[in-house]
Amino acid sequence: MLSKHTITVAEHAGFCFGVQRAVDAAAQELKKAAQDGVRLYCLGPLIHNKAVTEELEKEGLVTIASIEEAEPGSRVLIRAHGEPDSTYRAAEEKGIQICDETCPFVYRIHEAARKAGAAGRSVFVIGDPKHPEVIGILGSTDAAVGACDDPEKVSEFEEVLKDRPVTALAQTTLTRAKFDACCARLQQICSDLAIEDTICSATKQRQDAARKLAEQSDAMVVIGDRSSSNSHKLFDICSGACPNTVFIEKLSDLPLQVLKKYNKIGVAASASAPQQIILEVIANMSEVLNQNTEMNEMLAYMDEIEKSLKLPGRGEVVTGTVVQVTGDYVVVNLGCKKDGMLPKEEVTLEDGQELTAAFKEGDEVQAKVIKTDDGDGNILLSKKKLQSGENWEEINAALDSKEVVNVTVLKEVKGGVIAAYKEVSGFIPMSQLADHYVENAEEFIGKTLPVKVTRVDQRRNKAVFSHKAFLTEEKHKKIAEIWDTLNVGDVVEGKVMRFTDYGAFVDIGGIDGLLHISEISWGKLRHPQEALEIGQVVNVKILSMNPEKGKISLGLKQNAPEPWSVIDENYHEGDIVKGKVAQIKEYGAFVELAPGLDGLVHISEVAHKRVNKISDELQIGQEIDAKILEIDKEKRRISLSIKATLPQPTAEEIAAAKAAKAEEAEKAEEPAAEE
Ligand code: SF4
Repeated sequence: MLSKHTITVAEHAGFCFGVQRAVDAAAQELKKAAQDGVRLYCLGPLIHNKAVTEELEKEGLVTIASIEEAEPGSRVLIRAHGEPDSTYRAAEEKGIQICDETCPFVYRIHEAARKAGAAGRSVFVIGDPKHPEVIGILGSTDAAVGACDDPEKVSEFEEVLKDRPVTALAQTTLTRAKFDACCARLQQICSDLAIEDTICSATKQRQDAARKLAEQSDAMVVIGDRSSSNSHKLFDICSGACPNTVFIEKLSDLPLQVLKKYNKIGVAASASAPQQIILEVIANMSEVLNQNTEMNEMLAYMDEIEKSLKLPGRGEVVTGTVVQVTGDYVVVNLGCKKDGMLPKEEVTLEDGQELTAAFKEGDEVQAKVIKTDDGDGNILLSKKKLQSGENWEEINAALDSKEVVNVTVLKEVKGGVIAAYKEVSGFIPMSQLADHYVENAEEFIGKTLPVKVTRVDQRRNKAVFSHKAFLTEEKHKKIAEIWDTLNVGDVVEGKVMRFTDYGAFVDIGGIDGLLHISEISWGKLRHPQEALEIGQVVNVKILSMNPEKGKISLGLKQNAPEPWSVIDENYHEGDIVKGKVAQIKEYGAFVELAPGLDGLVHISEVAHKRVNKISDELQIGQEIDAKILEIDKEKRRISLSIKATLPQPTAEEIAAAKAAKAEEAEKAEEPAAEE
């Protein structure tokens, strides 16, 4: 039985982001140049791949070695490696238009070099000084002092570097081992060294993926260009792991007869190998090895290629794999011909969190496409927008379900404040900020408030929140809870909140009950403040509850027994008791012995002498001692005598009183006689 062939393509293979971008741009620029009738040059080979450059040359692209070779009025394409500033100046002087396709990752190194120079630092590039990319970086700032990728030779720069602040940047395709070794040497030399790791992961990813596949394969096909050092490096890596490795540039190099002998065949491709060639190689191998080829792997790859030709549209939610993370952006492989660029501003980070801490290579990320081309040929992604879409859904759900969400108050605006729910901003009208009047919203700024969502208009990006609605609902919940725990007859603690003529309102843990004036004391009150004070804490009895009307009636006097019910225990005939004059009538004075328990002192019992007018002897509020003459429980009457508590008058006093009385009578008669 014949064994099956499998063809597997390395996880990362073919054009990197920068090369793909440059090739796409070249095709576009060629069309434009043809329309405009101008010549398009490329400064140096666009990529290290003869087949691709020949194809472009057939379309009209002319490769030149120096800007001087281009004539005024022509256009010059700058490839992914970038160029020194002098090239741009020369082009300007000659009236040459530049089509700048410097890889954004390389361009960012130029920016870093300029920034370091502006900060008074010298720039050293860890890289091959003859490589066009390094020449471009060195030529982007006057602060550049040199470049070297050999750790043994870094010492040659010691004199230049040792006494000045130095920023070290890396060539994008440098190996990690070389970078680390050169950094270690620089650290020994420089007293003030800042290192920026600007290595691009595209090359390493292709190398790692190729090594992994070679270790699992019987034979490896490496697709690359013989003039590309990266392609040779890829071949060396694969050969080290799989002795049956072949290097091909194009389809016709494929040794099909040799490959027939092997079952598991792996395919790796350098960053300058176009997908078209990879596809042709796979298709050809499968055709020849046809009957015994396990097609799934290849078909899957075909699908991938198919997919890669489609670009996601604006607003689409895409999933990709992180291929590079810097302090400012994350590069995401979306499985299509353009990579996604996720800038720091489009990611929600925790306070002080760096992008490099939030993402790492290999992470799967989901984001929303906000631009299919950000001007640099990248697909611009946003996690914030994706989250904001999710957040709108959450807000809509909260509106429907009336759930509470937490918002952070950001700033005061006319009529209210702006508050953020995650990535969505909404408005809280001033009247909805609290359950009381708010004049100035300043105290709310920066605070997190639980709110109800009261309106959502996602199309217009509008949401309205209410903290007051939350507070009101909470209050109702609390009241309902309190109602559940209360029963008629319970004695609860309360606080006197306010008075009316007919009673006092008492807060019993969140709800107010009415303590009617008649329920405050067993005695008579004209106003509740005669017995209570605002803020006073009292124990009150629940007399009745009406949940429908939300009314609770309270009693305070019930804390003590009704005085007539315990009269026998406290009062007996013959007792001398204390009391307070409460009312004065012609026939006597009513004396309050206890709240709700009055006794009558008949006029004849006020004093031993004859009393004509009680108010001559007693005043309202006066405290007196009296003797209980009689207790009539049936009629609820108590007869008191003040005089019984007074000593009997002496004979002289009686005589003096009689004399005074007679004199008084005489005086009363005299004027009548005159009349
Ligand atoms: S290897 Fe990296 S830096 Fe170089 S062109 Fe490709 S993506 Fe850009």
